[in-house]
Amino acid sequence: MTGKSKRFPLSLSAVVEKAPKTVPEKLSAIVKIATPQTATQNALQNLSRAASGANLATSTEPRINPPGPPADRSASLVSDAVRKAMVARVAKQGVKDAKVLAAMEAVPRHLFVEPALASQAYIDASLPIGHHQTISQPYIVARMIEVMRDNGNGGTLNRVLEIGTGCGYQAAVLSLVAKEVYSIERIKPLHELAKANLRPLRIANIRLHYGDGMLGLPQVAPFDGIILAAAGMEVPQTLLEQMSIGGRLVAPVGAQHQVLQLIERVSKFEWTTATLEDCHFVPLRSGVI
Ligand code: SAH
Repeated sequence: MTGKSKRFPLSLSAVVEKAPKTVPEKLSAIVKIATPQTATQNALQNLSRAASGANLATSTEPRINPPGPPADRSASLVSDAVRKAMVARVAKQGVKDAKVLAAMEAVPRHLFVEPALASQAYIDASLPIGHHQTISQPYIVARMIEVMRDNGNGGTLNRVLEIGTGCGYQAAVLSLVAKEVYSIERIKPLHELAKANLRPLRIANIRLHYGDGMLGLPQVAPFDGIILAAAGMEVPQTLLEQMSIGGRLVAPVGAQHQVLQLIERVSKFEWTTATLEDCHFVPLRSGVI
C-alpha cells in the first residue's frame, strides 16, 4: 500500500496525535515527553543497534526477545509507547483478536525498515523496502492474520505459509501465532534483507525460502494457513492444493481494484471463497530474480 496522502518525514506528534482516546493516560504522558522527532529517531536508532548487538536468550515458547540493556530503556520506552499507539489504532479500525494485537505489540516494526524511516515505522501506512516493494500497512497485516486464525480450531495454527517475505515483518508477527512459519520471497536481496532483519530477534520457528511462492512448498505442505502478501488475478491452484482440510488462505486478488479474499478448504475437493474488503498490494509475480 502506498501512503501517498502522507508527507514524509512526519513528525512524531503527527503520528501520536492520531492515537485514539482509548490510549491509557500513562502512555500519552510518555508519548508527550518524547515529542521531539530527532530524539525519537535517535532513540529508535539506538534501540535498533542495541537489539542487533544484544545476546538475546532463546526460549521454547515462540516470542520476540525484549530489547536489551538498561541504558537503552528510554529508547525502548519510546518505541513501546509508539507501538502501543499503533496497535490501538489497528484495534480501532476493527481488529479484535487479542492474540494478534499482542503479537503486533511485541514485534519491533522499526527494526524492519531502514534507519532513515524508523520514525515512520508506526504510522498506519506501507513503507518502501527497496526493489519497488513495500512493508505492508500494520492494519492489513493484523487483519489478514486475524482472518486466518478465525478457523474451526480455536485459532490453533500449526504450520503456516507466507508468500512474499519482503523485509520479514509479517513473518515475525506470524511467528507469535503459529507453531511453524514458512515464508517465501522471489527477490534475492529482499530474502537476504529479511534474514538480516530477523537474525537479531532469534525467532526459532521461522523458515525463510528463496523461490517462487506461486509454487508453494509442496515438501512441507499441508498448511493450516496461507497468507499472500502480493496480489494476483487469482489464487494459484497449487496453493489451494497445499491447504489442510479446515485450513484458511487469505489473499489480495485483482489488479487496479483489489479485494481481500478468504478461501477455506472444506474437504479434499471443496473450497469456499468469501470476499472481505478492498485492499491494495504490490503484484504477485512468477519466477525469481
Ligand atoms: N510480508 C511483507 C510484505 C512484502 S511486500 C511485510 O511483512 O511487510 C510483498 C512481497 O511479495 C514482495 O517482497 C515481493 O517481491 C513478493 N512477491 C511477489 N510475488 C512473489 C512470488 N511469486 N513469490 C514470492 N514472493 C513474491
